[in-house]
Amino acid sequence: MPGGGIGRPEDGECARVTGTLGPVDELVTVGRYLYRGDAEVAAARLADAGLRSMIVADDEGGLSPGFFSDHRIRLVVDAATEAQAATILDGGREPPGADEITAAMVAHARFTHPEEACGLLATDSTRAIRMVYCLTNVDRSAHRFTVDPAEHFMAMRHAERNGWEIGGAFHSHPSSSAYPSSTDVARALDPEWLYVVVSLVDLDAPVVAWFRIRDGRVTPVGTAGQPDGRQ
Ligand SMILES: [Zn+2]
Repeated sequence: MPGGGIGRPEDGECARVTGTLGPVDELVTVGRYLYRGDAEVAAARLADAGLRSMIVADDEGGLSPGFFSDHRIRLVVDAATEAQAATILDGGREPPGADEITAAMVAHARFTHPEEACGLLATDSTRAIRMVYCLTNVDRSAHRFTVDPAEHFMAMRHAERNGWEIGGAFHSHPSSSAYPSSTDVARALDPEWLYVVVSLVDLDAPVVAWFRIRDGRVTPVGTAGQPDGRQ
């Protein structure tokens, strides 16, 4: 293989080499995927730009990782090309700012008022929020919500194709404060997710609050998920 060594994944993993990479300790992950096809599309986009990458997976020869996989297929590149690869895979877009994210959720909450609004948030490998998915509340209720399951799946697939994952959820309280209800707490199953509540008690002055919910305990956080950043 010309041009230097081939990166080798850790023991027990299999890899398909799509280019010549440097030593394995200089490889970095630029995307995580449920489906090999998504990783191959991403690798092809990098190849089009002249960047070498490698798909690393621990499911080789086994069953499809399926719906509830923990993102076992990774796309890795040389550390020296990480920033360039990330730019290509993200379409050159910067993550949206907190103001844009908040505006999208408030707009959706106003649109569905007086029914509760709901949606999901996609996060990238740095935990930055990349997308707000404004989804349908199939309960059509002012007091509860259920995300349309088909839309939930489509949001997951969209996030996945971009190398992101679903890392949070939001919903609105048309007539109560921006704090999770006991039902919200009971339904918050992922300790790593960001949970956002948009209160429209005053339609002209929406209140947006961010939380983590772990073991039934609610902690206000900022938009980046850090404690004590309530806004
Ligand atoms: Zn609620």
